[in-house]
Amino acid sequence: MQLMDNYQRRFQYLRLSITEQCNFQCQYCLPQGYQPNKDHQFLSLSEINNIVGTFTELGVHKIRLTGGEPTLRRDFTDILSIISSYPSIKELAITTNGSRLLKNISYWQQAGLNAVNISIDSFSPHLFKLITGQDKLKEIVQCVEKSLEVGIKKVKINTVLMKNMNDNLKDYLAWIKYRPVDLRFIELMETGKNNDVFNRYHLAGNLIETQLLAQGWQLQSKVALSGPAKVYSHSDYQGKIGLIMPYSKDFCKSCNRLRVSSLGKLHYCLFGDAAVDLRDLLVRADQKEQLKARIFASLMSKPEKHFLHDHKVGILPNLSYIGG
Ligand code: SAM
Ligand code: SF4
Repeated sequence: MQLMDNYQRRFQYLRLSITEQCNFQCQYCLPQGYQPNKDHQFLSLSEINNIVGTFTELGVHKIRLTGGEPTLRRDFTDILSIISSYPSIKELAITTNGSRLLKNISYWQQAGLNAVNISIDSFSPHLFKLITGQDKLKEIVQCVEKSLEVGIKKVKINTVLMKNMNDNLKDYLAWIKYRPVDLRFIELMETGKNNDVFNRYHLAGNLIETQLLAQGWQLQSKVALSGPAKVYSHSDYQGKIGLIMPYSKDFCKSCNRLRVSSLGKLHYCLFGDAAVDLRDLLVRADQKEQLKARIFASLMSKPEKHFLHDHKVGILPNLSYIGG
């Protein structure tokens, strides 16, 4: 069985948010820090197991855990073990701010983790602190080194581009010259609660792209089912540069991912006006067929593209709800 929408896009990649909680205060996401909501009960281990079991039967073979900060969950290693016990999961990834990584990466790797995206919005300690609220650049950079050292297969850095703040390409190029790391520039996206930050700092990724091309970087051809990132390489650099440009033309054409929030809601588009609640069907393992039917039906409502250009940002106040 295959997950495909009305526009012939196939979905073999699930982004699963496991918490909304976070210990950073990124300006574009949670500038006041995480505010707990007692009504929000995050997915249990058994619910996560039922989600993963069902999506693997629907052809999903890559899962990324995200949040909030996914590694803040006390049962994080158990979650990894449960997911990696499914033989059809070929890639088990996390997106993390790195704050819990140094001490734990070896255990996580043993539990099946094989790909890591670490968010680093600047290699200047001052700017890193200004953007994230945390004076931790040195430690987070060590997380990248450590992940490479222990042999994590894919190590990437996520950098949210902010105009006149962290947009000096030179700083990043020096860093990836001798490190086999993909650094991904993500265009700042508007969400329900970050309009001011968006208006002030949004920078189109193609300004970076133009500089890369002028310096001899070459666009890599897309492999089958690769997502919307445009990836550039250069023979003088071990690392690569990726660009995620949600405001660019045709961005949504290569959408290959579905998202389930830590409250068990299926978001078929990050900027959609609705999400489909799966929770009542996550209680027992024998509800799989009903769950599949609901997932299929909701996929039929997945729109062809988002309407971010019209500032229609959907239902999410910020990306800590669903993980970007
Ligand atoms: N806490 C983890 C982290 O920061 O890596 C995982 C969750 S975070 C929401 C996932 C990714 O989304 C991060 O790389 C973060 O920088 C990015 N992000 C958050 N808000 C964003 C926004 N408004 N526009 C673009 N990227 C955003
Ligand atoms: Fe936390 Fe990640 Fe949001 Fe930063 S981007 S506040 S680390 S959830």
